[in-house]
Amino acid sequence: MPRPIEAIIDPQHLRHNLARIRQSVGQAKVWAVVKADAYGHGIERVFEAFRAADGFALLDLTEAQRVRALGWRGPILLLEGCFEPRDLEACSRWGLWHVVHCSEQIDMLAAHKTQQPQRVFLKMNSGMNRLGFKPDRYRSAWARLQALSQVEDIALMTHFSDADGPKGIDAQMAIFDQVTADLPGERSLSNSAASLRHARALESRTDWVRPGIALYGGAPDFQSPDAGAWDLRPGMSLRSKIIAVQDLEAGQTVGYGSTFTAESALRLGVVACGYADGYPRHAPTGTPVLVAGRRTRLIGRVSMDMLTVDLSALPDCGMGSEVTLWGQSDGGQLLPVDEVASAAGTIGYELMCAVAPRVRFEVRELA
Ligand SMILES: *Cc1c(COP(=O)(O)O)cnc(C)c1O
Repeated sequence: MPRPIEAIIDPQHLRHNLARIRQSVGQAKVWAVVKADAYGHGIERVFEAFRAADGFALLDLTEAQRVRALGWRGPILLLEGCFEPRDLEACSRWGLWHVVHCSEQIDMLAAHKTQQPQRVFLKMNSGMNRLGFKPDRYRSAWARLQALSQVEDIALMTHFSDADGPKGIDAQMAIFDQVTADLPGERSLSNSAASLRHARALESRTDWVRPGIALYGGAPDFQSPDAGAWDLRPGMSLRSKIIAVQDLEAGQTVGYGSTFTAESALRLGVVACGYADGYPRHAPTGTPVLVAGRRTRLIGRVSMDMLTVDLSALPDCGMGSEVTLWGQSDGGQLLPVDEVASAAGTIGYELMCAVAPRVRFEVRELA
């Protein structure tokens, strides 16, 4: 028998989440963001579920080729654009749209020999200060692109830094609107947080939305509210089993560094899941875990291949009991990945992306 840990990808949940985003954004077209190998889910495993999207947005040429190899003939967008001139040949060959965020990328386009005019998304840095032209440089970048025979179509784009928080999107929206008011072309503004939280404000101002995390069932703004409140369902469920049980007496300790001491008699389950599977090593005692669908807590330090959970209140659980590290249990109980991430001081995105290659993946609809 293989080691019992597995990541189950549920296509029905992924389809539901895509429909949920569509419901929120009205007429806007949807880029399914599948960078980082579909947030760790695997491009090939999510493709069928996301076929109903209008396009796929990602970073790597190899990922773009994988989407084409699956038979996708529709739009594909490179979110960081081209890294070197050669990449433009790949864009021509594979019909990829690409982001232009700096003048070097315009230089590359100007020098590019092609029969195939390119579709680009010109990115404005409206306050995120990562990629994009500053507002006062944006229109001259647009004019330069407009004059190139290599460019067929220019869409306008920006990215919000605070769509998930109290600062919101108003300041960035105002800058973007002011600079682009009279420019033609489609607009692409929203990530998951903006698509869910600011749908009303963005209605009819965004032609393309770019949801990532919400498609996979993560809350873009965990705790205000959680994924369930947004009616999002887990795309990935990480499950394993109890492979050993230990009975501890008061005063005995658990695991490396003896960081946990039993205050009274305690029944401990050992789970086949560790940081080499992608479970966060920093998850502290108290991090929620489901055993046979019931909530309990992690105790002691997470080690490479194992972690330990408290079975004291679950006397009927033991060797072979199903453990859900995040996602949905066999009985349908939910443990949001965001909750586990939050306990470990990170976000759901990072946990999804970090599931290790040694974990077996399965695509299956959960009951
Ligand atoms: C990753 C990314 C997104 C998706 O963000 P989520 O928070 O996962 O919805 C959208 N736009 C750009 C430019 C991105 O890089």
